Amino acid sequence: MMFRNNSILTGMAYTGVLMGCISSAALAQSGHSNPWAPTVINMLPPVASLTTGVWLKGDLHLHSRHSKESSNNPVAKIIAFSRSVGIDYICITDHDNHVEGDVANNTWADPEFRSDSVLLLYGAEWTTTRGHGNAFSAKPYDHQRLYDVRDQRDVVIGAVKKQLGIHLSANHPSGKDHFGYSYDIIESIEVWNSAIWSKNENAIMIWDDMLSSGRKLTGRGGSDAHHGTPDTPDKATKNSVQAKANYVGTPTTWVFATARTPQAVVDALTNGRVAVSANPYAPRVEFYADLDQDGKMDMMMGDNVRSTGKAVKFRVQVTGNTVPDASYTISVVKNGNKFDSLHVTGKTPVAEFTDTPAALGRTYYRVTVEGPATPYPQVPGSMALSGNMVGLSNPIYFNFDPNF
Ligand SMILES: [Zn+2]
Ligand SMILES: [Zn+2]
Repeated sequence: MMFRNNSILTGMAYTGVLMGCISSAALAQSGHSNPWAPTVINMLPPVASLTTGVWLKGDLHLHSRHSKESSNNPVAKIIAFSRSVGIDYICITDHDNHVEGDVANNTWADPEFRSDSVLLLYGAEWTTTRGHGNAFSAKPYDHQRLYDVRDQRDVVIGAVKKQLGIHLSANHPSGKDHFGYSYDIIESIEVWNSAIWSKNENAIMIWDDMLSSGRKLTGRGGSDAHHGTPDTPDKATKNSVQAKANYVGTPTTWVFATARTPQAVVDALTNGRVAVSANPYAPRVEFYADLDQDGKMDMMMGDNVRSTGKAVKFRVQVTGNTVPDASYTISVVKNGNKFDSLHVTGKTPVAEFTDTPAALGRTYYRVTVEGPATPYPQVPGSMALSGNMVGLSNPIYFNFDPNF
């Protein structure tokens, strides 16, 4: 016993000495200090109101007849359908290469491109040799310039995008037509493309990698629907079956907007106050944090604060059309790794967990919710494709440098 104790003590002492030697010696020899090492982040903007605003649901990736491979999908049909299922906003993102970049005189100039009830964003699918991205804007912009610059170096493209004042987003980022550009020129990433949830695994992986490297990128959805329901049977194409499996709202992207305006939708998207649900009727995931544990929530997904080094209480709420008797599984991801799994039931299921984000360096948390599929009678085939995936949140951020 004595020998063992002595050996442990000696070992500990030796390790301590050795560590001290190495650290001071390494510094003395190399003189290296990493200029990018985590430091205290000062001057973070205050968190916006958690109550002054409105949840709006929409679809950010849609193709009308101005995309050559679409069928039975005029602009008016998309807008009328959106309205009928309670969609608040859409962005019709036709392939810009099908009109040589002249979206303004095609999709946007279409007499059907107007609505009194559905907010219409201006945008297009930037369809290039290096991949696909969506541009979003509250007002018309010179999309031709973005199209023309597509094959240039990313630093040139980034400058043009900044001048245009648009929100740029990576589409279906893995596989064919992946986003082959720097993620430094975008604000969001399509982490849920179409009703087929299972094919998004690599998109989620890329999102976590980008978040973990300090890029505060919003995760969003987009149905990428191309085909509408034919008005008469003789108008059917071989793709018309898609209209009943993947259409407006599969998935649905929710934004917490400060107002019911196109600009507020784009701003919420940029700020990350965003959740994605399987369809317009499926429950919405809300994710909050109580920083001082006084029972009152202080921030929500998309928000970024300085960590105090103290424990934080997190709350996940599944709001809307829940199945009261069903069980929902909430998976918590912290810094790209599985952190926790919680099971909840009830009409408004709520789960809480506590953790202490690092005082120095970045931490983020995000959640996904699985459970029973919500019926979407207008697009009945989508339920089987989304499976038990109900929705996902955007991250809650600590110590992310806004000047990154
Ligand atoms: Zn695409
Ligand atoms: Zn598309």
